[in-house]
Amino acid sequence: IRTIGVLTSGGDAPGMNAAIRAVARASAYYNIKCVGFYRGYQGMIEGDHCVLNARSVRNIISTGGTILKSARSKEFMTYEGRKKAADKLSEIGVDALVLIGGDGTFRGGQTFSEEFNIPVIGVPGTIDNDIAGTNFTIGYDTALNTVISAIDKIRDTASSHNRLFFIEVMGRDAGFIALNSGVGAGAEEILIPEEDLGLDRLLESLRRSKRSGKSSSIVVVSEGDKIGKNVYELADYVTENLPNYDVRVTVLGHMQRGGSPSCFDRTLASRLCVKAVELLLDGEKNVMVGILNNEIKATSFEEGLKEEHGINKELLRISDILST
Ligand code: ATP
Repeated sequence: IRTIGVLTSGGDAPGMNAAIRAVARASAYYNIKCVGFYRGYQGMIEGDHCVLNARSVRNIISTGGTILKSARSKEFMTYEGRKKAADKLSEIGVDALVLIGGDGTFRGGQTFSEEFNIPVIGVPGTIDNDIAGTNFTIGYDTALNTVISAIDKIRDTASSHNRLFFIEVMGRDAGFIALNSGVGAGAEEILIPEEDLGLDRLLESLRRSKRSGKSSSIVVVSEGDKIGKNVYELADYVTENLPNYDVRVTVLGHMQRGGSPSCFDRTLASRLCVKAVELLLDGEKNVMVGILNNEIKATSFEEGLKEEHGINKELLRISDILST
């Protein structure tokens, strides 16, 4: 392998820059050329790229976002689009790819690798933490810390006015952010897509909180919770059924994706990306790298994308006990 291409794709996540830096620096260390593609797969299709040497990635380890930009590419979902991308890679002289992104990025990479015999390694970069082949994805820890600090601030005002706050956090299909930030911020209830609490139990739980002397409450709601209502409908429902509650809603939104990455995410990105480059040099292909039980491991895309890496339901029990 003489040239490695790197891109960031799908939803952006804090720590993607630390990952790009690690790919560029590890390539330089092993005397390999490194090329970055802009806007994920779309940039690859268009041949929109830059050369990344060790100095081009200076001072980005601490920055949020991604210097290579990210995008979702409809064209890459088609064979014709992927063929254009493969042609661009041979034109530019790229022999292998490091793909930083989520499950969609890995699925696209796997198909691409099989169709055109180009070695690819996936590096999990998404705030959602919804990839089976790793205990932690790059950006998840930072997002959790961002959410915690927002909830702490909301709790201050909730308790000053005796209010009940519904706080919506990201996670359409996975409740990792809601569950862990909910426990970390001491929420009264946590609503996640993996577990249907039910409206009656929610009301009962809120009544119980009030009876036990709580004057304010925080309920953390994952975007994709299964209770069948969006966060505003949920707040209306609670207001109708518990008229003596002063209910408010805060949707945290895209702030969860931004900000300087935590030390954990920077270190994780550095470890995973050095490994990704080394795996390519060892002739490995079509795998993702992840951290499992504190060890860096390569897992096939099939295994790594299995859905059985569930949330830790024990945390729901912990939350129930501690919100007494
Ligand atoms: P996140 O989970 O943070 O949103 P992601 O990587 O899952 O990140 P997606 O939008 O699902 O984000 O995927 C990124 C890109 O990967 C898509 O825009 C598309 O170009 C490509 N892609 C996804 N799935 C496939 C597929 N089955 N075949 C080919 N390309 C795909």
